[in-house]
Amino acid sequence: RRQPSRKGSMADIPKDLLQEIKRLEDLFTVDTAKLKSITSHFQSELAKGLSKEGGSIPMNPTWCMGFPTGHETGTFLALDMGGTNLRVCEINLPEEKGEFDIIQSKYRMPEELKTGTADELWGYIADCLQQFIEYHHEGEKLDKLPLGFTFSYPATQDFIDHGVLQRWTKGFDIDGVEGKDVVPPFEAALEERGVPIKLTALINDTTGTLIASAYTDSEMRIGCIFGTGCNAAYMEHCGDIPKLEHMKLDPNQEIAINCEWGAFDNEHKILPRTQYDIIIDKDSPRPGQQSFEKMVAGLYLGELFRLVLLDLHEVAHVKIFEGQDVSSLKKPYSLDASFLSDIENDPFENLSETHDRFEKALGIKCTKPELELIRRLAELIGTRSARLSACGVAAICLKKNYKTCHVGADGSVFNKYPHFKARGAQALKEILDWDKGRDGKALGKGHDPVEILPAEDGSGVGAALIAALTLKRVQEGKV
Ligand code: BGC
Ligand code: MG
Repeated sequence: RRQPSRKGSMADIPKDLLQEIKRLEDLFTVDTAKLKSITSHFQSELAKGLSKEGGSIPMNPTWCMGFPTGHETGTFLALDMGGTNLRVCEINLPEEKGEFDIIQSKYRMPEELKTGTADELWGYIADCLQQFIEYHHEGEKLDKLPLGFTFSYPATQDFIDHGVLQRWTKGFDIDGVEGKDVVPPFEAALEERGVPIKLTALINDTTGTLIASAYTDSEMRIGCIFGTGCNAAYMEHCGDIPKLEHMKLDPNQEIAINCEWGAFDNEHKILPRTQYDIIIDKDSPRPGQQSFEKMVAGLYLGELFRLVLLDLHEVAHVKIFEGQDVSSLKKPYSLDASFLSDIENDPFENLSETHDRFEKALGIKCTKPELELIRRLAELIGTRSARLSACGVAAICLKKNYKTCHVGADGSVFNKYPHFKARGAQALKEILDWDKGRDGKALGKGHDPVEILPAEDGSGVGAALIAALTLKRVQEGKV
């Protein structure tokens, strides 16, 4: 599980710094036994979330009922409200199975919006949609276009076109939205501007990812996001959801469950939290929430790294960056996950890019041994993220008894963070004992029974497909 050996350079590191690296390794390494016990707890927490009593993982029914057939047709808008961008797409699903055309525009999501007012948020989004319509449909007389809105936060839904925000995640902190249905103020903002759009489905990014991926790959069973936040969705039979029993749904009907697994272990029973994880939680806008997410998701990786370095400079018995001005390292959330990716991508020999980056971005001149420690720390944080993330995937596979399947994954960490995919695959193997193979025989390379693959565009195509599926159900009188 270690990175390729680099004993040569490690030998040059002073003994006390080596000890410090060893301490960090012990702190951040999650061994196979621990992965297994986390996964088994995860599995029971997934079940608890579906029970009448409920648990910490919300396991939200999404009212997205089953997979697309490939014969969905029509023209749909899709809106993705992400952390950095707001993306609007128009998707045309033609008759041919599994095909689609898409046009899209991206708008910047101003940082201030995340902590501003609800009116500002809905107003800004409605303005972007208006611009999109004016640009792409100039002068046309339009009937209201159906919209799939990817709202990637935990929401309680009684219908697919409504959603009560349970709580903000990923650093959002806008007053007056939590605990309320987000659709009426969103539609009011559209109405005010006369934008001809009707919200057809409010969806989570994981559900969109699941549906979009299943559209082109019939083995897809789970949709995951490993990005700014972390979460997954999968299909559950209504008969296996005790908390929906009172609705007397067809027990064989499938419904997508948005797990909201970021909330796993909010009661701190099993995850190997470090003092740094505790600080991240304490200083976040929602302490006590999203415990799992705060250890694995992109938003927090750079911050973890910063907190460790600062601690090593200030408190640890071996001091790094001695005598240097580290004030730039004191700014919360100043280093993002791409800072860590770049360090992990820096060739081993001299870590010269990392050296220059520290000097330019932070005004810190690193010694060779410090560079070695920095590199190892990035690996440890990135590896822990991938290995813990794999526990969630394994837990769903075990719960559903999926022996083989595909998992569609999207998000900046999955797509851009070096070695994330391989580390996750390795952890899955360890948890599910694939090295041995289910029949006890060794498995050949490239034959992982559960494969995590890059997903289709969930918040574009996925949102359009779910809107199409919803309209079809409405036409068929199944509301
Ligand atoms: C949100 C989820 C979302 C995930 C990935 C989490 O913070 O609660 O709804 O799916 O981030 O975007
Ligand atoms: Mg997103």
